[in-house]
Amino acid sequence: MADSAESYRFYRAKMVEVISENVIETASYTGVTALSPQVVNALKLVPRHKFVPDELRNYAYENRPLPIGHGQTISQPYIVAIMTDLLELQPEYVVLEIGTGSGYQAAVLSVLVDKVYSIEIIPALAQYAADNLQSLNYNNVIVRSGDGYKGWPEVAPFDSIIVTAGGKVPPALLSQLKPGGKMIIPVGNEGAVQSLTLFEKNVEGQLSQRQVLPVRFVPLVEGDNSN
Ligand code: SAH
Repeated sequence: MADSAESYRFYRAKMVEVISENVIETASYTGVTALSPQVVNALKLVPRHKFVPDELRNYAYENRPLPIGHGQTISQPYIVAIMTDLLELQPEYVVLEIGTGSGYQAAVLSVLVDKVYSIEIIPALAQYAADNLQSLNYNNVIVRSGDGYKGWPEVAPFDSIIVTAGGKVPPALLSQLKPGGKMIIPVGNEGAVQSLTLFEKNVEGQLSQRQVLPVRFVPLVEGDNSN
């Protein structure tokens, strides 16, 4: 791949085509027959190659997860797309992400909503993501290092919550969701296939949930004492 902005844009557009085909193939599970134009636009804008290690840049627009160091991964682009789409985001929303990684999902959200808060448990990754997002001018994203299992009570409640590591459902997150809000999270035990699950809190505050898709995410760690 030639290392120019134009060629990256070309491969990014190809990636979006592949994702869109994937979305059609999985429509019977997800209920999503096509990504919203806003989500497609965000995927076309965010330079995923800036969120992977330099030596993996040539793979940045393949539809697969890649290692980002510290035993963690940048999520598969299709998964980022479908999770983002299922949240049905509005421009005025304030969104919480758990599991910043290198910051790719946060950047996609940043294009779509007013404010993004993102928590990463590995301090070196949190720092990397914060620097990276700032240098790319994603100025409406605030990253902090800490245990996302507890949410971010100081800035709650949130219109939407996206958890990008898989495990048990953190009760704090459900309580930090606004009435009318949605939360998407891979649910399941470590090592097992997880079930991507969409929670909805209605205006009366009652929760309902729907299993969307079998997935495999890195584990959601619980029990950090750094915050
Ligand atoms: N959102 C990322 C996905 C990164 S992988 C992307 O756009 O590609 C998931 C991340 O969740 C890892 O970096 C991992 O360190 C982090 N993580 C796991 N448990 C966590 C927790 N309890 N709180 C915050 N981050 C957590």
